[in-house]
Amino acid sequence: MPAAAIDDEGSMSTGYVWHERYAWHDAGRASLDPMVEAYPALDRPETKRRLHSLVEVSGLAQKLVRIPARPASEAELLRVHTAAYVKRIRDLSAAGGGHAGEPTAQFGPDGYDVACLAAGGCLEALRAVLEARLTNAYALVRPCGHHATADYGRGFTIFANIAIAAQAAKAEWGVDRIAVVDWDVHHGNGTQEIFYADPSVLTISLHQDGLYPPDSGAVEEVGEGAGKGYNINLPLPPGSGHGAYLAAMERVVGPALHAFRPQLIFIACGLDAGADDPLGRMLCHSETYREMTRILKTAAAELCDGRLIACHEGGYSPTYAPYCGLAVIATMADTRTGVEDPRLARYAKLGGQELLPHQRDLIDRVADQTAPLLPGWCQGKTVSD
Ligand code: ZN
Repeated sequence: MPAAAIDDEGSMSTGYVWHERYAWHDAGRASLDPMVEAYPALDRPETKRRLHSLVEVSGLAQKLVRIPARPASEAELLRVHTAAYVKRIRDLSAAGGGHAGEPTAQFGPDGYDVACLAAGGCLEALRAVLEARLTNAYALVRPCGHHATADYGRGFTIFANIAIAAQAAKAEWGVDRIAVVDWDVHHGNGTQEIFYADPSVLTISLHQDGLYPPDSGAVEEVGEGAGKGYNINLPLPPGSGHGAYLAAMERVVGPALHAFRPQLIFIACGLDAGADDPLGRMLCHSETYREMTRILKTAAAELCDGRLIACHEGGYSPTYAPYCGLAVIATMADTRTGVEDPRLARYAKLGGQELLPHQRDLIDRVADQTAPLLPGWCQGKTVSD
């Protein structure tokens, strides 16, 4: 295979986290029904490892600064999780494995160690950016984190990686306005719950309506107490694609970020809104992810000196998620690889890629609801203005 050409467009420095042990995490079985043959959980190592491989063989890795992962300390975990929960995960791991709350979050004897390494990978990405050694960073970690709450893990998550990093940013660096934009196809319920009453962390989730967790991620969940207005849910209808996602970014995410003026932006980067993901019913393709990343990179440049940290969440298509992830990381690094997405032309032509009226209605409803709740909201102000 010829070495892919890198088209250099800029001089930003982008960090990158990957650790081989992320691939060793055992997420267990997908079906615990004794009447159905056991099958491995869909959070398999291949999907993330194949993204890492594509980063390497495309030549993109040469444009990135590798950030070594390290385990999060117990003190760092305890900024988010209860002591009883951390002990339970550690004890279950020592006993051979278990699950973090429900069987959708299984782990083996190394579960505690690998989950600490995932949270620690995000913490090191954060450190590199807040110390201004790098402009932005992509942490390709596993297990993912956005479903974990203070004392409960589900949906392949054990520790709440982004929440742990956000609390570290507040505690160690004095950052007091952080935005989390979660475009994983599932609701970022854990991040929402952890910061639900906290006005210092603006949490925005774009997800498939009613997917997972069930009964979570409604438009009406806007935060509470001092945090009211600082949680935004965009439960997009199944079948949403390029047009709907970009409209949501431009009509809601952009104005919200400009109103909030974060000092740091996290992306909860799930790739499971991709057109062939086995766990989502959305239509996004690699150019959707490239454009969403460009929008957030532009916002970060305008609002917070480019400080943008993407932490990997879901994405379960071993053949397609790597192309979407490559588009995100290359865009963060202000570059383009010579790798062409072999399915882009086909997926871009799928019916319903454009913004459809029922999707627009939902996005407008969220914008209308958010405007009076978020001080400084200016309808029409987008990141590209
Ligand atoms: Zn997901």
